[in-house]
Amino acid sequence: MNTVDYLQHHDIKPSVQRLAIMDYLQSHCTHPTVDEIFTALSPQMPTLSRTTVYNTLKLFVQMDVARMLTIDENNIHYDGCTTPHSHFHCKRCGKILDISHLPCPISDLSPEGLVIDEVHLYYKGVCPACRESGKSDIEQE
Ligand SMILES: [Zn+2]
Ligand SMILES: [Zn+2]
Repeated sequence: MNTVDYLQHHDIKPSVQRLAIMDYLQSHCTHPTVDEIFTALSPQMPTLSRTTVYNTLKLFVQMDVARMLTIDENNIHYDGCTTPHSHFHCKRCGKILDISHLPCPISDLSPEGLVIDEVHLYYKGVCPACRESGKSDIEQE
């Protein structure tokens, strides 16, 4: 499904800016912030504002085409992948990585009758790149 159809399928009017933001989200699985998306797109789209990026992402989350990640207490990150998966936050470089092999339990209906459609599971630690580069300053490993 192309991006226009994808947005229309979710009742989102595919404006040029929305398409650009969705394309960026889907081609950058780095869980970008509003600022990162704005900085990346604004050279090609001089009329784009931070507020538009923010409002568009908010709409995407409401319409279920993006997820908001609050794993990092300093920044809100966005994910264009809505399939349930877990996240890992590196405490050194701040990168957010997808984890597909660790459990991310999901069931539609809990015994209490709660209907669950999102699960956010966050792991924190040190990513391989940081572990490589900072071996000597890790005290216990
Ligand atoms: Zn790292
Ligand atoms: Zn993700």
